[in-house]
Amino acid sequence: MATEKGMLIVVSAPAGCGKGTILGEILKDDKFCYSVSATTRAPRPTEVDGVNYHFMTVEEFKDLADNNGMLEYAQFCDNYYGTPRKFVEEKLSEGKDVILEIEVQGAMIVKKNFPDAMLVFILPPSVNELRRRLHKRGTETDEVIEKRVSKASGEIKMAKYYDYTLVNDDLETAIEDLKAIIRAERHTIKRTQNIIEEVLENA
Ligand code: 5GP
Repeated sequence: MATEKGMLIVVSAPAGCGKGTILGEILKDDKFCYSVSATTRAPRPTEVDGVNYHFMTVEEFKDLADNNGMLEYAQFCDNYYGTPRKFVEEKLSEGKDVILEIEVQGAMIVKKNFPDAMLVFILPPSVNELRRRLHKRGTETDEVIEKRVSKASGEIKMAKYYDYTLVNDDLETAIEDLKAIIRAERHTIKRTQNIIEEVLENA
C-alpha cells in the first residue's frame, strides 16, 4: 500500500495540566515526531536551544514569519511563539504523525488552514484542582498563580472548538486516552478513503 501522509496532531492545555508528561509518553513511539517551536521568550534554566524551542530574537522571528516560514504563530504573554513550517511539512510527507504543542490562537489557525488536523485539548479535573497543583509546585507567587488560573479559564472556554478533550485526573488514564483517540482517528472514513479504494482494486 502507498505511503500514507502523516497526521497533524495539535495538543493544547493550560499550564499545570501535565501536557509535557503525557506527550513525553506518546513520543516514545517513533511513529510520532515533535515539532520544536520557535519563540522569542528567554530560555528557562533547563531548556536547550533546538530541543525545547528554537530561541530567536524578535527580528529573526518576524523575518521567518514574513517569509511564510511559519505554519502558524501567535503572541502569548508578551512573546511570540510559532511553528516552523518546513520541518512539519517534510515529516508529514514522510508519513510521520507530527505533534504541535501550541496554545489556542495558534490551534485555531491550524484548524482553519489544515482542516485534516486533529485537535486535542487536555483539561484539568477542575479549575480549583489546577490552582491547587500550581500552589503545590511552589514556583510562583499567589498573584501570578491567580493570573495563570484566570488565563487557563479563558483557554478552557476555547476547548469546544477542538475535536477531542481528555481530562488529566489520573496520568496513566490520560496517556491511554490520548493513544486511543489517535488510534481511532486513523480509522475515520475521511482518512481511509484510499484504503477502501485499494481493497476494491481489481475487484
Ligand atoms: P511556555 O512559555 O510555557 O513554554 O509556553 C507558553 C504557551 O505557548 C504554551 O501554551 C505553549 O503550548 C504555547 N506554544 C509553544 N509553542 C508554540 C507555537 O509554536 N505556537 C503557538 N501558537 N503556541 C505555542
